[in-house]
Amino acid sequence: MTSIYDYKHPFSYFVNFSSSGNKGVRFLFVSTMTSVALLASASVYAGKPPLKHLSNSHFQQCLTNLKYSNKFRGVTDDTFERYRPERPDPKVIQSLNYQPEFKKSVWDYLSTLVDSERVHDGIRAKHQWQTTLVRIESVYGVKPAHLLGVWGVESNFGQTLGKKELIPSLATLSCFDRRQAYFRGEYASALKILQDGDVSIHDMKGSWAGAFGQTQFMPSTYRQLAVDFDGDGRKDLVNSVPDALASTANFLVDRGYRRGEPWGYEVKMPASYWGVSNRKNKKSMSYWRNKGFTLADGRPLPYELSSAGLLLPAGQEGPAFLVGKNFDTFYAYNASEKYALGIAKLATQIAKEDAVNVGFSTPWPTDDAGISRQQVREIQQALLNRGYDIGKVDGLAGDATRGAIRQFLQAQGIYSSDGRAGQKAYELIVHGRSLFATTSDAYRSNLRQSWQSNRYQSNSSNQADSMGRLIQQQSLHYRRIVDIDGNVRYLRLDTHVNK
Ligand code: CA
Repeated sequence: MTSIYDYKHPFSYFVNFSSSGNKGVRFLFVSTMTSVALLASASVYAGKPPLKHLSNSHFQQCLTNLKYSNKFRGVTDDTFERYRPERPDPKVIQSLNYQPEFKKSVWDYLSTLVDSERVHDGIRAKHQWQTTLVRIESVYGVKPAHLLGVWGVESNFGQTLGKKELIPSLATLSCFDRRQAYFRGEYASALKILQDGDVSIHDMKGSWAGAFGQTQFMPSTYRQLAVDFDGDGRKDLVNSVPDALASTANFLVDRGYRRGEPWGYEVKMPASYWGVSNRKNKKSMSYWRNKGFTLADGRPLPYELSSAGLLLPAGQEGPAFLVGKNFDTFYAYNASEKYALGIAKLATQIAKEDAVNVGFSTPWPTDDAGISRQQVREIQQALLNRGYDIGKVDGLAGDATRGAIRQFLQAQGIYSSDGRAGQKAYELIVHGRSLFATTSDAYRSNLRQSWQSNRYQSNSSNQADSMGRLIQQQSLHYRRIVDIDGNVRYLRLDTHVNK
């Protein structure tokens, strides 16, 4: 029989029209996703690959070879054997190959990363550690708020350090699957940290990939840049906040941090300006002033930054930023612009001590904003009360929570392919108020017409890429669906499933 089947293919598309008011289609957002889950069971949301059996004899032989390899020079026999894992950990390989099915938009990412709760916690930490932070600033020149931003994003000010034992994880990653050479270096570094007595084996826990401590250093970074700032003779980034914050300052300085500079600003972009987002293309502040840029509130751009690049995390329609070198040092921490923006924004709110207005001056281009961790918890509790399996009430909208949201919405006649925890889902699930219904039939029909008139244009401009191919194919094998929210999706009609 013919059934609607989710389209799993490298050229898979999620075509999303977002619109507000009667302006019609404001932007077209196309992202490649490895999978778009549709009308399928909750198991679709378990994005983890199955656990693989890992041969222990291979593992033990691999460890023995490593022990005598160059990378492990400096690790004594005694150290290696004392911490030698008895068996590999297949869950780590599962994590290595996990590909999230659901890509968070920048506004969803930031709404949980920089919510009132985290800003409050940051302000409290700022007062608690003020003396230390001032001392670190005098030595390294790094602003206290910047360190607090990193600390809050990395471990929620020490509340979430990670629970995975590092040595078994890194040993497994050194002997199986991808990136073994990289993980061998980290494994050797972790053993040297133990050997030097900086951290105890009991404290060496963190993420599955090996980042650990208050500010989540990888072992090799730890070996290079960790410092003892509380003077007890140990570089302990797990238990000593002064060590962790000073080491972070040392890391930022190593990556080119400029003393006294802010990270950058949210700005107002002149309507006539049509440039691309490229924070690396730094220009002087006079250049941006001459182009007509101002601060978000309209005041003229200050001259505090030696140079700045333009960052448009959601394209022309969303908030715009001019970012300096110190923003790049945040980026060096985790190679993600939205991550670096999370640190920057959190730092700004903590410096201003403003836990209320945590958004940007220019709103994100969506009519369904992101929500805070507290709101996620409220959704989770409400669903739990109604008998949905959401896992734990933890403020994180993971696979189980999104599966339950999707089921709940479906039961209300609202179609949502990804069970995203946004403002509309929150209002409906927690307060019984449907914002979904405001999308009128007339409006949706209007949207469809806009799509019809736009599709040939986008087809011709993108003929060579896979979107063009998809559009050409859709008349044969794909059904176009416009959901109640105005999202347009392609569903593959597959005659080969369910046999
Ligand atoms: Ca110390």
